[in-house]
Amino acid sequence: MDDASNPEARENDVVETRELRAENRRLTQKVAELERKISLQPQTGLPTHFRLELELDEMIEQARESSDRKGFSALIIQLGDNYRMVRKTVKSGVSEWILYQTACRITALLRPIDRVFHTHENEFVLLLPELKGQLLASFLGKLLARLSEPHIFSGFNVVIQTAVGISYWPEHGEDRSSILHHADIAVGAAIEERKPYILFKPELLQAAVEKVELQNSIIRAIEKPVMERLGEQFVLHYQPKLLCSSLEGRTLRVDRIEAEILIRWNHPTKGLIMPDTFIPLAEETGLIVPLGKWLIYQCVQRLAAWEKAGKTGIGISLNLSPQQFHSDDAAQVFKSAIDSTGIDPGNLTVEITETCLFEDPCAAAVMLERFEGLGLRLSVDDFGTGFSSLSHLHRFPLDEIKIDRLFIEHLDANRQDRIIVRSLVSIARGLGLSLIAEGVEKAEALEILWEMGCRAYQGYLISKPLAAQDFIAFRDRIAADGFKFRLPD
Ligand code: C2E
Ligand code: CA
Ligand code: CA
Repeated sequence: MDDASNPEARENDVVETRELRAENRRLTQKVAELERKISLQPQTGLPTHFRLELELDEMIEQARESSDRKGFSALIIQLGDNYRMVRKTVKSGVSEWILYQTACRITALLRPIDRVFHTHENEFVLLLPELKGQLLASFLGKLLARLSEPHIFSGFNVVIQTAVGISYWPEHGEDRSSILHHADIAVGAAIEERKPYILFKPELLQAAVEKVELQNSIIRAIEKPVMERLGEQFVLHYQPKLLCSSLEGRTLRVDRIEAEILIRWNHPTKGLIMPDTFIPLAEETGLIVPLGKWLIYQCVQRLAAWEKAGKTGIGISLNLSPQQFHSDDAAQVFKSAIDSTGIDPGNLTVEITETCLFEDPCAAAVMLERFEGLGLRLSVDDFGTGFSSLSHLHRFPLDEIKIDRLFIEHLDANRQDRIIVRSLVSIARGLGLSLIAEGVEKAEALEILWEMGCRAYQGYLISKPLAAQDFIAFRDRIAADGFKFRLPD
């Protein structure tokens, strides 16, 4: 008996088909919902990178077909680090509002033919037909002015830094991926050079290639199997820090001499590379963790060797990058390095930046307590440049704050810097923290610092960073002079 002559089987078929259709409808609805979700950013209601890809292809198609081929420009707008800081530190709702306001500010300036996309949390992309050269410059002027207006909240205002990278179609690329890649390289350069915007040029590509080459060679340098081999390429310099108790005429009475350890990369073909260039690369690649581990051992062994040679009482400060600071084993590495040499941990200061503290204050407090438990001293580097609030400092077990050289550079000429430094001195005193000024280059600045009550100095006026044996010679000269240091003329 076949199904056609069986009413029960036919009935079953009808039910199945109905269920299949309903299932199909549900699926289609889900796909449409999903498409809507991925096509629109919920915070701003703007189209996302999925739409960007489609619409950029369409715009390229239209531009190719148009007779004048005037083309268009692609702009990538990135919100700066302080947006990330606000997102992490300020109560929820604030960063969402900033994004929404940013989207409104951008959209208000656009013509009907322009397109805007919200491609990542902190990134917007604009496609602006026929807007290049002078016309684009005047648009950028308005855009940057709008974006640099403060966002106002009850209790605080914040100006979000932005950088813009620009590329032109067809001059800088004929297809979607090259036009976006080149705008991306331009925005990277704008951030690095702290410029509000940069228009793509081929030299930027060369710089990006060089960065990748450097990144690869740092990987090779650190990946060598034996940690000791790092010493073949990385060298450590020591910059003196003087802790003083009197200033008579131009002569300082020195109570204690310390050193900040600063790394340099002796690249096999490129020569000496400074840390500002390669530390960010080591951070990006995660190689800062093994490199930092090596540094900690080097530093502790150096202290032990000095103590053994009778050069006692020298302190060393070591910079910890944010990734090292947050890595689970940093405290463990210090502990095993200290245990294996028996040095006094009180002679070791760990310098961390404000960003480390305030990006995630709870995690930072846990880390700092671990370091404190080991007996290490803790210092906040580049103080005054970040987003931190002085009133939160007491939450952390700190020993020292280091005033950024930005405030010291023009101390003799700039009244505002003097006001800031004076208030830092009194806050440090109130919180029972030591205070050191870095980047002291002029005797006038040191005299002002002395008069304000700051008693510790580091900078080219005292000495540039030195090789280990030169640092010891510097220290021995001061000791031989009865711990007096005469300021150079
Ligand atoms: P930093 O911790 O603020 O170090 C001070 C920088 O200022 C050093 O540059 C130093 O040579 C320079 N400097 C010192 N005195 C003066 C002065 O009077 N005038 C001027 N204009 N500059 C002065 P350097 O050695 O190039 O280091 C740059 C940055 O690289 C450091 O800034 C630190 O953030 C990072 N860094 C250096 N060594 C290490 C390291 O071993 N580990 C990590 N994670 N970062 C490091
Ligand atoms: Ca430092
Ligand atoms: Ca510093």
